[in-house]
Amino acid sequence: MLPPRPGGPGLASGGARARMVDALRRAGVRDARVLEAMGQVPRHAFVDAALASRAYEDVALPIGHGQTISRPSTVARMIELVVQSLPDTARAASRVLEVGTGCGYQAAVLARVFGQVVSVERVRGLHEQARSNLRAMRIANLRLVFGDGHLGVAQAAPFDAIVMAAAGETVPDALLGQMAVGARLIAPVGTTRQALHLVERLDRERWQVAVLDAVRFVPLRTGTS
Ligand code: SAH
Repeated sequence: MLPPRPGGPGLASGGARARMVDALRRAGVRDARVLEAMGQVPRHAFVDAALASRAYEDVALPIGHGQTISRPSTVARMIELVVQSLPDTARAASRVLEVGTGCGYQAAVLARVFGQVVSVERVRGLHEQARSNLRAMRIANLRLVFGDGHLGVAQAAPFDAIVMAAAGETVPDALLGQMAVGARLIAPVGTTRQALHLVERLDRERWQVAVLDAVRFVPLRTGTS
């Protein structure tokens, strides 16, 4: 007999995930590509078995190493904000960089919305955990990189979108430089108080910033560990 799946058959069958997507829609998420992706990625497979039954609640959950997976409504809102300017026709050729792979959940969602995903993580244990969580999903358009996201991933730049999953005091210059003209970057910025900053690169020399919702993210740290 097969061992029971974490969280029971309700989670594996997708009913709980469909209810989560309904809640996202009610909370104002409109982009069909984002809603579809959120409806497909099994969030319960990215958290500890003991937490799997809570995977489709709109809460942040611990993923080890003192880090957390963001709540689904935050993941959906951030991706929606960066994908909005991208026409459907440009989607297959688009590239996104995620800073802070964590358990790999958001990277899997991004891989269903963008053509190519590069995700960088500074904690070796989490980088490996994400690799193992994602292995069975066989996502061909996702590359995981171990390193300090302050530097971006120069070999894969320029990016059409950048999503930061950890809060710095400012947006690192290297990341601004790795945005394509017209690209968007979404990042929590601040220390004790944080807000989402939406940056758009207007041309080679100009970037425009809008300060949006108050948020709470883990800090962006320097170097690797
Ligand atoms: N997107 C993740 C959320 C992880 S929490 C998920 O879906 O699970 C934020 C992550 O950012 C943590 O794993 C943390 O280790 C990582 N992080 C913090 N500073 C970083 C840096 N400078 N470079 C890369 N990753 C960083």
